[in-house]
Amino acid sequence: MTFEDFKLNRQLLDAVADLGFEMPTEIQQKGIPPILAGQDVLGIAQTGTGKTAAYLLPLLMKVKYAQGENPRALILAPTRELAIQIEESLRQLAKNTDLRHAVIYGGVGPKTQIETIRKGVDILIATPGRFMDIYLKGELVTKHLKTLVLDEADKMMDMGFMPQIRRMLEIIPTKRQNLLFSATFPEKVERFSGEFLEFPVRVEVTAQATPAQTVSQVLYEVPNLKTKAHLLEWLLQDREKFNRVIVFTRTRQSADNIFRFLSRKMSEDQIRVIHANKGQNTRINSMDAFKEGNVRVLVSTDVAARGIDVTMVSHVINFDVPLIYEDYVHRIGRTGRANQTGEAITFMTRAENIPVEKIEKLIRMPIPRLPVPEGVEVFPTPFEEEQDMAREVDLQKRRENPDFKGAFHEKKSPKAQQAVSGKTSGKKGTPKAAGKKGPPKRTGKKFKAS
Ligand code: AMP
Repeated sequence: MTFEDFKLNRQLLDAVADLGFEMPTEIQQKGIPPILAGQDVLGIAQTGTGKTAAYLLPLLMKVKYAQGENPRALILAPTRELAIQIEESLRQLAKNTDLRHAVIYGGVGPKTQIETIRKGVDILIATPGRFMDIYLKGELVTKHLKTLVLDEADKMMDMGFMPQIRRMLEIIPTKRQNLLFSATFPEKVERFSGEFLEFPVRVEVTAQATPAQTVSQVLYEVPNLKTKAHLLEWLLQDREKFNRVIVFTRTRQSADNIFRFLSRKMSEDQIRVIHANKGQNTRINSMDAFKEGNVRVLVSTDVAARGIDVTMVSHVINFDVPLIYEDYVHRIGRTGRANQTGEAITFMTRAENIPVEKIEKLIRMPIPRLPVPEGVEVFPTPFEEEQDMAREVDLQKRRENPDFKGAFHEKKSPKAQQAVSGKTSGKKGTPKAAGKKGPPKRTGKKFKAS
């Protein structure tokens, strides 16, 4: 099958050829015909499958050329990164047309965005919050909207955008084509798609939440944070193999800690960090530097990483196991994109065993486990981190089974025990480095790099 088979116009076919797309991907083969035919479509496809072009190409056929002042198609995305990414694809695919588009998202002032809209827009890309803000300022006319696309609907729900989306549905014409794309299809998305879509055609490219088949996955069983940091450093030494790497963390703090640790180990211009506390411009600059291959390692939290579309990512490293299991699928979908192969490596402590089991259930496959490689120094687990992990495991078990009594008992730290037995070290209040003899530092959130 070729793109010519869809009977797209010449402008679009030329743009597709310029992008180097030789053959439609599976989601494009299945999704483009019903969307072109004007039907509502429910697309279950991860990022990396070519889903964006699957809805943009037919949308561009429908909107065709610049007309009037007001948007006729609206694409909603959960994050500004994804919105920007969609805009980039749109710009490339629409480059031979006269269509006008705008992208609006929060985190920056609305002034420039409003000015762009005032000039006249055919296709609007928006995050839900900013869309409502600008609408309420009276700067958006919605009555000409004929197509509504919800991209990454699962993430949209996880991020709590449903109330805003419901309000939006009240202010846009009911007679329209609806397209809903989601990487996963949990019950809440199913319920919403029942409300939102009319007699939809369902297109699904892989079984629910199956990671892209081009990604190989492994898990390293690592005893503690400090060993994780050193394993990361060790892996990244192979610059040839690990040539474009995203390191994921659950928290901003942890992303910053890893960034600082790695900056001391390798030249700082090889690495960037992005998370929600970084300014919009810093995030865009970091992402661009990574995309262009000027930066080898990008450290990111889950939210900041939504919408990252960088081809040829060699490795995704999960420094920790994500709290939202679906995020694992999103994370590893950053590698192995569009027929490239990639590797996803996850670091797991004993406190992350249960979450990993859940992920394996979700992706319906076991992930091969590996011990810490020889050559990586294994550090002893500091007392407090040990306690934190035991507490975490109990919590997870209790969540599964409220009757679970728990094996964890609050133990006194060696320091407290010493104090009780009267044997003090003589160095009161000066804890030594983690892993050494003596009272441990709190390392649950921060690791001390050596
Ligand atoms: P998406 O799933 O929309 O995020 O797309 C993932 C990547 O695949 C993007 O870099 C697209 O440019 C690329 N892509 C989309 N369609 C094709 C195609 N038919 N052939 C090759 N690459 C594609």
